[in-house]
Amino acid sequence: MIKAQRLKKVWKNCVDLQVGHPLGYFQPSTPQEVITIIREAERKGYKVKAVGSGHSFSDIALTRDFLINTHKLNKILSTDLLSPLPAMDTAHLFVCECGVLIKQLNAALDARKLALPNMGAYTGQTIAGAISTATHGSGITLGSLASLVEAVVMIGENGEVFHIERGQGISAAPIQLGNVPVTLIQDDEAFLSSVVSMGCLGVTYALVLKVTDAYLLKEERTFSSWEKVKKQLRREGLLGANRHLEVLLNPYQTHTKGDHDCLITQRNICEPETSTSWFRLHRAWFYTLVGWLMPNFLLNAILRFLFNTFPKSTPYLIQASLKTLRDGCYIDKSFKVLDLGKANNIAAYSLEIAFPSASYQQAVEALFVIFGQIAADGEQYITSPFSLRFVKTSAHYLAMQYGAKDDFVCMIEFPVLKGTVGGEEILSRIEHDMYRYGGIPHWGQYNHVGIGDHTLDKLYPQFYKWMANYRRFCKKGTFENNFTERCRIIA
Ligand SMILES: Cc1cc2nc3c(=O)[nH]c(=O)nc-3n(C[C@H](O)[C@H](O)[C@H](O)COP(=O)(O)OP(=O)(O)OC[C@H]3O[C@@H](n4cnc5c(N)ncnc54)[C@H](O)[C@@H]3O)c2cc1C
Repeated sequence: MIKAQRLKKVWKNCVDLQVGHPLGYFQPSTPQEVITIIREAERKGYKVKAVGSGHSFSDIALTRDFLINTHKLNKILSTDLLSPLPAMDTAHLFVCECGVLIKQLNAALDARKLALPNMGAYTGQTIAGAISTATHGSGITLGSLASLVEAVVMIGENGEVFHIERGQGISAAPIQLGNVPVTLIQDDEAFLSSVVSMGCLGVTYALVLKVTDAYLLKEERTFSSWEKVKKQLRREGLLGANRHLEVLLNPYQTHTKGDHDCLITQRNICEPETSTSWFRLHRAWFYTLVGWLMPNFLLNAILRFLFNTFPKSTPYLIQASLKTLRDGCYIDKSFKVLDLGKANNIAAYSLEIAFPSASYQQAVEALFVIFGQIAADGEQYITSPFSLRFVKTSAHYLAMQYGAKDDFVCMIEFPVLKGTVGGEEILSRIEHDMYRYGGIPHWGQYNHVGIGDHTLDKLYPQFYKWMANYRRFCKKGTFENNFTERCRIIA
């Protein structure tokens, strides 16, 4: 039996919003050790939960039983372990263990002149943690990180290891893991259930990803207003014209014209030989300088003080922050441009909701009303602009972006500075009100999915297929926890 690491008995997520006291805390470094932990837990009647970087704000990583921290399962694996079908393009397949951080993955890919076709705005998550919650970036032709997965290697109940792919998969035989037996499953429903599964089906040990050649991205950030921009948010307009498109909106009006200001971020591939000066290699100078010079704790303390002491100044502080982000041109390697950078160090938590392409603009209009009302009635303010990111729909049954093949969703994110008075209340209020516009909350962000009327069968049309696969892999309930209880996922 691998020994539990007794040094750290209290587990906290990145902003201390979730705190757990697992009975056993493990940091395995081989698949054999994961198998041993699962078997030991089952023998003693305990449950098992894998956790990555703890960068989810919801309770999805909590357990009172055995917690497996995956950070030591962080090796890049050789594609020689695979047995690809003859026609496969193996040059763009990449195999890694679950606990590799996205930043480590980017460095490893870059060293091979490869890159992720898309990613979120942050790189501190583990690859398995990010994929299992359908973490996304932007782009109506690009899916979430889950869309890059060709195969998942999962350790399930009894310590059985499964290599799961689509029905028309990439392999002729399972991945080779030394003397560990692996079963190859090529089945669409098992695949679409296991990639985005929040650790409910087992411990993801490794992933096979489809990557692309390295590329440069150019980012441009311009200031505009919602009334102007909303008309251009069409496939024939801004959405179709840009590889990545994001809109940051001021929730409040700061002038009498009755409009909300916003910042539009456009990112597009540029030629490899594009010349870059020092200025083009950095984001807006004020943003860059604050990131370099201001320690995180000081920036967090100043912002918290300003927002809580002078709440009525929130709209203007947000406006100022939007203006400092304006930027004519930033060109760099794709993964550097897609990473939001220093803003990720601000201690904050957020709610993020996926809206259908047909209803997100109605949702935005409703949000403006809600924000205005709670500011007027209770001086409660959301302490950040909210962002719109447009993402291709997904076929994974429990991805928030689930939808028709050629459509997109608009992911709207509401960050709140840690320590904001009324922060959680605002997010709960928004979540509650946004279900009526077809909104589905991001699994890794603040959410109450499963509670009350917002059950998974109502939010996800293919939930019954996911449940069939849950029951296929989890007959004993080994991977149950607080989260599966609230979502009524029962073996
Ligand atoms: C600063 C910051 C920026 C962010 N930016 C974005 C963004 O741009 N886009 C976006 O979509 N999200 C974003 N997020 C949310 C984040 O990407 C997700 O919450 C992600 O799931 C966190 O990854 P993690 O490695 O920390 O996983 P954890 O939070 O540790 O775990 C997430 C889930 O994955 C499961 N899990 C983890 N590892 C395994 C494994 N090996 N096997 C089985 N299950 C596993 C856990 O049980 C849990 O259910 C951001 C979060 C932060 C803090």
